[in-house]
Amino acid sequence: MCGIVLVSGPGSENRVRRGLARLRYRGYDSYGFGWVSDTGLDDWRSTEDLDDMVETLPASTLALGHTRWATHGGVTVENAHPHRSQRGAFLLVHNGIVENAAALSVAAGLDWRGGDSDTALVVRLIDRQLDRGVILQEALASVFADIEGRNALVVLADCGTAFAIRHGSPLLAGRGAGHAYLASDALSIAPFADECQPLPEGTVCSLEPGESFTGLRDHWQPITASAEDLELEGHSHYMIKEIMEQWQTIPRQFQVDQAGFDEFAALVRQKGRLLVTGAGGAAITAGHIAHAIRQETGLMVIDAPAYDIGSWLPLAQKGDPLLAVSQSGETADTLAAVEAAKTRGLIIASLTNMPHAGLPAASAFAFANHCGPEVCVLSTKSATAQMAFGARLTRRLAGADAFPADQLATELSQYLDDSLSERVKPVAAAVAGRDHLYVLGQGAHLWSARMAALNIKEASYIHAEAFSTGELKHGVIALIEPGTPVVVFDHGGLTDNAVAEVSARGAVVIAISNRVVPGATWHLPLAGGCDDPLGAGIADIIPGQLLAYHLALSRGLNPDRPRNLAKSVTVM
Ligand code: GLU
Repeated sequence: MCGIVLVSGPGSENRVRRGLARLRYRGYDSYGFGWVSDTGLDDWRSTEDLDDMVETLPASTLALGHTRWATHGGVTVENAHPHRSQRGAFLLVHNGIVENAAALSVAAGLDWRGGDSDTALVVRLIDRQLDRGVILQEALASVFADIEGRNALVVLADCGTAFAIRHGSPLLAGRGAGHAYLASDALSIAPFADECQPLPEGTVCSLEPGESFTGLRDHWQPITASAEDLELEGHSHYMIKEIMEQWQTIPRQFQVDQAGFDEFAALVRQKGRLLVTGAGGAAITAGHIAHAIRQETGLMVIDAPAYDIGSWLPLAQKGDPLLAVSQSGETADTLAAVEAAKTRGLIIASLTNMPHAGLPAASAFAFANHCGPEVCVLSTKSATAQMAFGARLTRRLAGADAFPADQLATELSQYLDDSLSERVKPVAAAVAGRDHLYVLGQGAHLWSARMAALNIKEASYIHAEAFSTGELKHGVIALIEPGTPVVVFDHGGLTDNAVAEVSARGAVVIAISNRVVPGATWHLPLAGGCDDPLGAGIADIIPGQLLAYHLALSRGLNPDRPRNLAKSVTVM
């Protein structure tokens, strides 16, 4: 979701453009640049694809860029950021939602309706203060103090100074080699900056020409995010590249040192309880992790989606551990769940793919996915890395460290060859014209079914729902009509009845299995998971990923950039 990058120093126009390109993966529907030139402030905005921009930006020593994911106001050039002060005194970019925009506009006597841009309102409120003679820094602080929600604002003043303020929304300061930066994540500035730190909450930081920040703490950390350009390496999309990389990324989770891992596992064992949370795909991996731990250890492990944590927190006691899972480490729902858990005295562990994000900073134990940057909006390799962390934790809690990671790498490298993708293609082509698709699973496979349904919805826009095979006769079977595609994660003989029952009603069954399932029209192979139930549980979601990918292609869609979705969900 929304990306902000600002560069101060010579050649900032080129760095800001490259930095913004590295933020594209977060998801956006329009973008813009602003800069300080000899004649004052200038900007350029567009609702097109950033890759299609042919204009060059003029040379500048202070420039910013923004990718917008519209929350209030249509996707138009006018609503794209930066927004310009009516007085011409500043340009402003915004990440977040002004949740009390209606009340603020009434209080200020301004005409603002729900469909208007909340960012434009912020600009008008600041202009009001400037009209009264308040200086820009103070006007920004005072307007921001009145705003409710998780927000970040960056302002470029006509004098060549930048101001920034945030609350609950990501914004980092960075520096290196004579340049200074502000950015939504470390990945965007990793090719240029050496060090970064999150902006403190709720106070205005300023950046004067010549790399001098004020308002920061002396907490600079070396940037560990990858500085490499995120190339497709011969693949047609990031999604397939990232799916194919999993033979390396899954086993890596078992090979890297995770500081605090032993201590966290000891805490979970001592308490005998664990709450696992996440949002979207991470809520599914949270469920998968909790299921694995329950099965192998018998510990009381509860999984709760971040948006529903309030239903479960009453069961938790002070000092109980909570594991929060989020690819971006900036998921607003998950951060809110963590804040609620902290107020009840829970001890927070997090599992993220972004080391400099807000969630690791808010955690007593910060664990990493170690799967490298993920560009496709859908979580594929980051989901399996999260599940692999869960497998590692499960084994430790069960008192056994053995996990056949090397064997899994070998099996997955053989499984993930091009012929697998070729096998999935005709299956996807056969059902790509359908509006509804159902996915059945049982036990650990129910989580694989849920992930497959989510991936299919995200990439192909087919209405896909996952159900436990047990639910079938209690309502779901009413949905089956001749030709309805039903994907079944084969659970040996346990799912055979379900396959027979939906086939009897004309369903086209796609069995994900290594045996011939009676009644199935199509078969997609499982990786095997080296006969370890935890390994199998991780690898089982790969066929669903491939089906989602090929369904998107069959429907002429770009799976890397699904409509309406953002990778980093920084608003609630
Ligand atoms: N709410 C603002 C808008 O709709 C900012 C959205 C964003 O974070 O990209 O323009």
